[in-house]
Amino acid sequence: MVQLAPYLVADSIESYCTDYIDGESVEALFDASELQEGLAFRQSIPPDLTTLLRGWALGFCPLNAIERSLSDLIDARTSNPVQRTAAVVSADDAIEMLEPGNILVDCTGSKSLLRDRLTPGSAEVDGGANTVNIRLEYALVVTFLYGQTYDCNEHCKYFKNIENARYKFIPMVHRTHNDGGISHVTGIVNITAEEYEAMPSRFDGRWLRSNFPDVARSMDRFIDNIKQETHGEVVGDLEILRIPLNLYRARNATSRPWLIAGPRDHPFASSPVFLAGDSAIGSPYFQSISLGFECAMYLAGLIAQRDLPLRDVFDRYELYIYKQWLRVYMQSKMIKHNKDLFECVDDPLALLDKLHIY
Ligand SMILES: Cc1cc2nc3c(=O)[nH]c(=O)nc-3n(C[C@H](O)[C@H](O)[C@H](O)COP(=O)(O)OP(=O)(O)OC[C@H]3O[C@@H](n4cnc5c(N)ncnc54)[C@H](O)[C@@H]3O)c2cc1C
Repeated sequence: MVQLAPYLVADSIESYCTDYIDGESVEALFDASELQEGLAFRQSIPPDLTTLLRGWALGFCPLNAIERSLSDLIDARTSNPVQRTAAVVSADDAIEMLEPGNILVDCTGSKSLLRDRLTPGSAEVDGGANTVNIRLEYALVVTFLYGQTYDCNEHCKYFKNIENARYKFIPMVHRTHNDGGISHVTGIVNITAEEYEAMPSRFDGRWLRSNFPDVARSMDRFIDNIKQETHGEVVGDLEILRIPLNLYRARNATSRPWLIAGPRDHPFASSPVFLAGDSAIGSPYFQSISLGFECAMYLAGLIAQRDLPLRDVFDRYELYIYKQWLRVYMQSKMIKHNKDLFECVDDPLALLDKLHIY
């Protein structure tokens, strides 16, 4: 289940910038004309796709449903046919397939196939050469269904965790959605690197109770407090993933370095490569899919301008990705800082240690 940011379907600059944390950064990083250009592109998207986007942005949406409806839409478009071939592709396969003038868009996710091949010579050096990675924390993503309407704000997060000195469960803002009387609740619990290593990647409440009883008790207290307030029950068990919360970007999100300084006989010198989605930028705290859509829309807008010189396309995409990265970097650091303060909000000395006021 994923949540898309409301800005993806904003119809004015004002509504694009309404987010409490993100809004000011957007205004600082982007000129009004850039934001206007983005809105104009959004308004030019065909109605069938816009309708899908609006539907996905309404609330909690299954990632599979997004993938399936996009696939169906592509298959249904006879006017603009896309040929699909399902296969696992290696970096060398992708490079071999390139003909001069082709455009290659790598959207293979956080372990991007081509990210570390985008600078000449990088195939020979260790992986990660083209990746800036900041590990913010390790976390459990805990999801459960609750048989009553339940909504959460910052006060709720505080009071429902009041007996949890450690392992506070933090439901994501906008992440609790009511669906016909059932609420989907997703949130994160901070864990240490050692705890992360000792856990499987995915497990349920029973495993948590047997192996990490303190975390389970913390979840129980949070859920008991919800029940006291709204008199519902958890439907089924907890579903838990353990994930590193990484904030990363590709230093180069295009094959521009090959155009500038690469050997002329390499396919990347004559066929541009772009990273899109988690291939290019990844962020924790559930913003990535929206960023991916945003960058994909911008790339589509650039590619549609057929007379734009390739060098300009590269420069503009790189700059755009960099600005989106700064935006999500600031947002993620702010969320992490707020989370750190929240973890020790009842301990004034610990709190003061984390406040660097001047
Ligand atoms: C628990 C969890 C919750 C999340 N919740 C949110 C949320 O609420 N909001 C949000 O914005 N984001 C959320 N995210 C992040 C979001 O899921 C990702 O940002 C998004 O899925 C990235 O899309 P993508 O298409 O770039 O990459 P992916 O979804 O990773 O897709 C990459 C695709 O490429 C394919 N692929 C990879 N390598 C190859 C290869 N060699 N050959 C062929 N195919 C290949 C993969 O099979 C996959 O289908 C969440 C992530 C997690 C883990």
